[in-house]
Amino acid sequence: MAPHNDVEAFHEVLRSSRRILALCGAGLSASSGLPTFRGAGGFWRNYDATQLATVRAFKMDPGMVWLFYAYRRHLALKAEPNKGHKALAALARRNPDFLCLTQNVDNLSQRAQHPPSQLKCLHGSLFDIKCSNESCDWMQKGNFDDPFCAALAPASVDMPNGEPLPLLDPYHRVKHITEDELPKCPQCSSGLQRPGVVWFGEDLDAHMMMDISAWLRAQPVDLMFVIGTSAGVYPAAGYIDKARKLGARIVIINLEAEDEAEMFKVKPGDFAFGKDAAEILPVLLEPIIGKPNEEGEFEKP
Ligand SMILES: [Zn+2]
Repeated sequence: MAPHNDVEAFHEVLRSSRRILALCGAGLSASSGLPTFRGAGGFWRNYDATQLATVRAFKMDPGMVWLFYAYRRHLALKAEPNKGHKALAALARRNPDFLCLTQNVDNLSQRAQHPPSQLKCLHGSLFDIKCSNESCDWMQKGNFDDPFCAALAPASVDMPNGEPLPLLDPYHRVKHITEDELPKCPQCSSGLQRPGVVWFGEDLDAHMMMDISAWLRAQPVDLMFVIGTSAGVYPAAGYIDKARKLGARIVIINLEAEDEAEMFKVKPGDFAFGKDAAEILPVLLEPIIGKPNEEGEFEKP
């Protein structure tokens, strides 16, 4: 059997694969310059980022949680989709049987022209806004206002010469933002508007989950990419087991994929590439999507 990182052997498998699933995480957007806010260094000011991404945090200090998300919106708007996003989008355009699940909320896959029907954003989007009142179903898709509102302007500052943003310095005092300074829901007029992302402890969108289950049930899966994610969080991790049961070979792409401690995840017949997704995806997908043109774009079929 070819080694787990044999590109030619992978190309053979890819050519004979029709139904393809991908699960993407923060590593896909890393080379676009977006921090992961998870694991080591996952701090924002002096907050553990995972503690800010909760309903509880929003109830206690919505202004601070909004500053965190306003900052992430600003970063994502300034970032550009990389060749990894573009290669996956090109694969989707050429293969209608390719479904991409992403944990990323940065909108970069959409901006790389990934067909919306073939992209499931498991954790929502930084650019969808919803109502924090659980009994209210108001939602606004595609809000790219930057700053989101006047009170959140400190999160949208661009410093000269790459100097650090004062907001990111935990010793730099930020003015407390009151609820009155944040926009309210136009439908119920009582709930605060909040980011349309899935916070820790919240359920993923039920309709989206049913769509994904239906896709998985329909026919066997030939190949599954696991890109830039340790896939440690449910339900992401479960999709790998499901795809495997449906016959899929797994290809793991992330910087640590070939580390000794990670190799137990690679079963016989699977592939693992310990490379940056933006670098290796165009190489791996070349038999289907071709080479990028001079502008770095994969031409549309
Ligand atoms: Zn509302």
